[in-house]
Amino acid sequence: MSQVRDVVIIGSGPAGYTAALYAARANLKPLLIEGMQPGGQLTITSEVENYPGYPEGVLGPKMMEDFRTQAQRFGAEIALGMVTDLDVTKRPFVVTSEFDTVRARAVIVSTGASAKLLGLAKERELMASGGGVSACATCDGAFFPGKELVVVGGGDTAMEEANFLTRYAKKVTVFHRREVFRASKIMLERAQRNPKIAFQVPTEIEDILVGPNGKIRAARARNTKTRETFDFACDGLFVAIGHEPNSKIFRGKLAMDESGYILVHDGSRSSVDGVFVAGDVCDKRYRQAVTAAGMGCMAAIDAERWLEGQH
Ligand code: NAP
Repeated sequence: MSQVRDVVIIGSGPAGYTAALYAARANLKPLLIEGMQPGGQLTITSEVENYPGYPEGVLGPKMMEDFRTQAQRFGAEIALGMVTDLDVTKRPFVVTSEFDTVRARAVIVSTGASAKLLGLAKERELMASGGGVSACATCDGAFFPGKELVVVGGGDTAMEEANFLTRYAKKVTVFHRREVFRASKIMLERAQRNPKIAFQVPTEIEDILVGPNGKIRAARARNTKTRETFDFACDGLFVAIGHEPNSKIFRGKLAMDESGYILVHDGSRSSVDGVFVAGDVCDKRYRQAVTAAGMGCMAAIDAERWLEGQH
């Protein structure tokens, strides 16, 4: 087995790359294992306009490339591959990826979260191309001034996104597959009182129809009761059916809540001494690139101080 690393970072994205940058500058020679989607969720968005320091906005994939380059400039080593196991019963910890097994004195988990998608044919493609499909109103809402939008989902996220989108859109229609909403009463009522929000229930989206400009032109929907199908013209479709933290491999090892978000205390500490956590895998509230980056910084500083205490 290879030498023992001071810090191994599991997962890329703003949290992981920022942790790598700080750990590298602290001379900890971190290894970051990128995972299945190097750069994380931002690589499937288009323009990012709310990250401070980019006054003209920046494409999500470009921003992640910049983060990566900056971490590498200070000596962070970046490896491809999915981490398949973290053994926290041994010291040093053992991190197993599909290509290698490494030992680490400290580990930073920054595996992120994934927005749940509907699973429709063109959904991912239209998200990546700026074709009018998104899973983040905060990120993409401003691209739809005066437009007709669809939000899919019946939980608090859908209500929050619909309300937020009315700042820009002419009209927002919430499509939910049942007549009963999972959203809290207060959030649902706020959306129901908003004159720019309409509801289509019980309705599910069957397909996304694309215009000659390569952007969404309508959602093909089906009433789940009557089975009647209809096309609903729209300029944008926001999928708001929840997120899943990418924490499966840590189950039974790190304490997490009932939804799988890893629990942190005292900054970025997990339930296992020496394992730190940053970004969306422990954050169901903010889910922003800038907050994830901030947590990555915290995790690297916490890891550095913890390592100092071990010597
Ligand atoms: P959620 O509560 O799990 O709701 C997901 C919604 O999406 C449900 O209405 C569900 O429909 C629907 N859905 C799931 N899969 C679907 C599919 N394949 N096709 C169509 N619809 C689908 O998720 P969430 O809204 O993201 O909320 C997650 C947690 O965060 C909750 O605890 C929530 O209270 C919290 N949250 C709080 C706030 C706030 O307080 N400001 C904001 C956002 C989120 P069914 O109902 O039919 O299953």
